[in-house]
Amino acid sequence: MSVTVRALLREDLRDFGGYKSARSEALAGEIWLNANESAWTNPRDVGGQLRRYPSPQPEALRARLAQVYAVAPAQLLIGRGSDEAIDLLVRAFCVPGQGRIVIAPPVFGMYAVYARLHGAEVIEVPLRDGAEGLCADLPGLGDAAVEKGATLVFLCTPGNPSGELLALPAVAALAQRLRGRAIVVVDEAYIEYADAPSATTLLEEHDNLAVLRTLSKAHALAGARVGCVIASAPMIDALRRCQAPYPVPQPVADAAQAALEPQALALTRSRMDAVREARARLQDGLRGLAGVRRVYPSAGNFLLVRFADAGAAFAALLAAGVVVRDMRAMPQLGDALRISVGTAAECRRVLAALGASLADGAP
Ligand SMILES: *Cc1c(COP(=O)(O)O)cnc(C)c1O
Repeated sequence: MSVTVRALLREDLRDFGGYKSARSEALAGEIWLNANESAWTNPRDVGGQLRRYPSPQPEALRARLAQVYAVAPAQLLIGRGSDEAIDLLVRAFCVPGQGRIVIAPPVFGMYAVYARLHGAEVIEVPLRDGAEGLCADLPGLGDAAVEKGATLVFLCTPGNPSGELLALPAVAALAQRLRGRAIVVVDEAYIEYADAPSATTLLEEHDNLAVLRTLSKAHALAGARVGCVIASAPMIDALRRCQAPYPVPQPVADAAQAALEPQALALTRSRMDAVREARARLQDGLRGLAGVRRVYPSAGNFLLVRFADAGAAFAALLAAGVVVRDMRAMPQLGDALRISVGTAAECRRVLAALGASLADGAP
């Protein structure tokens, strides 16, 4: 066991093997009668594959994902979106009813949701609003983790909704400081839009890092629910034992595999340039509008925008048929909306709706 897993895995899970599914036993044969599957195919099952339980970790997909993310297959666990990985990390490394996590709000809500479901305490070190944007206080997050004995620190880069891209040396310094004390989870759901290196490049030096990647955003497969956690092989092994038996449905594995074929991947990569361009144009357009107070810099496929009257802006967009994310209930964001970067035509609709409404009725 690695230093991190030995120090931080829940003590009651040290010897826990998890569920031994029929598929996980290394047996060979011609006639498979060990999983109580149907002997007949469902007439609507066109490929004829669905009567069998899928592999717990479809090998070809795992190998391909590992290749795409430049890690070893044993360093990667596929799950039902990266959301499932967050749940697994909390379950494995927080004692139920006692554990603690550290987050930097305003941030993606699922870290706190899974912590609460597990009875873990959520310690908050808010983002700081300054000239550079909404920025995470990494030393502050480290202090909080040490002081409170938290075992997980969640970073989101690019930040949702802050848009902030964290510098890898700062992430490495935090991991170094928390070595043996806490795992630094780096959620990179939007990293492809940033055109920046992944924190996976730090894994060799820091075995208390876990990186979350997903096919939901840049790969346009949110409906397929495929994400993964990338970490040291011992950490992946520990998480795998906490996972449900068949987390990746066969049709999903097939769809993901197809989406990662070289040609599809090349297209995805070229689309990132288009998103960055559209993002810049939308940002410029929004900054030129009366009633827009601030548009934050963003490394993701969305913009966080403060308005003189965010309620009016939200309503004007809705009246024009455009639905954006209302952030007003989030800490520090009482006047903000988050707008995803759509197609060029969709961005024009946003600007037109806001331009018209903020120019006439606006306070
Ligand atoms: C969208 C999003 C996710 C969701 O990932 P899934 O793989 O779809 O579960 C994870 N983290 C952040 C910050 C997100 O914005």
